[in-house]
Amino acid sequence: MIAESGRLLLVEDDLTLGKMVDDFLTGHGFRVRWESNGLRALGLIDSEHFDVLILDIGLPGMDGIEICRTVRDRFSGSIIMLTARGDEIDEVVCLEVGADDYIAKPVRPRALLARLKVHLRRGKVQGKPTEASRLEINGLIIDANSRTVRQRTELGKENILTVTTAEFDLLLFLMRSAGEVVGRNEIYEHIQGIAYDGVDRSIDLRVSRLRKKLGDDPSNPKRIKSVRGVGYIFALEP
Ligand code: CA
Repeated sequence: MIAESGRLLLVEDDLTLGKMVDDFLTGHGFRVRWESNGLRALGLIDSEHFDVLILDIGLPGMDGIEICRTVRDRFSGSIIMLTARGDEIDEVVCLEVGADDYIAKPVRPRALLARLKVHLRRGKVQGKPTEASRLEINGLIIDANSRTVRQRTELGKENILTVTTAEFDLLLFLMRSAGEVVGRNEIYEHIQGIAYDGVDRSIDLRVSRLRKKLGDDPSNPKRIKSVRGVGYIFALEP
């Protein structure tokens, strides 16, 4: 058995599924806290440390979408939602409220395990040693070691921007490739660690959330520009 070190909060009210996932992940070395009530889960998120949240959508107390929306700004780890198979609305809503990933039910434990590993690795990867750990482009500063993003104000101050782990990785990737067009498939493979299926909108939604945080006008972005049909480019010139 490979020991994984990750503290997970599983929020699932289906007792059979919850027990199955809990047992499976515990058996793979994760420290799992399983909670079936949404409101109680919210209390746990605020009082304990977790690396990843796995949230069902339909829950007593508070639904998974509301939990995600509520904690997103203060929880920097990954949030994985459990959605009904093929429910595109659920999938889009999940990403809009800031989830990093979703897994369609019925949950295949091995698929969930594979996704979890990607998300846990992401929090630890500091970038290749040859890559600059600190970059500054037009007053936007990203630091791969401290995993912080700061924006220089006109008065010379630096404001810290709160971004999620997934948003940070996307921004770092774009800034390291600044001035070059990066394809949606390239971003997807780098961020998700799996091949792009051509339909996933998670990157687009993540870009739109990042633009909002960077104060970039979505109809005329100055930093992260869209390249129609291809992907994105982080602008070197203001
Ligand atoms: Ca449920």
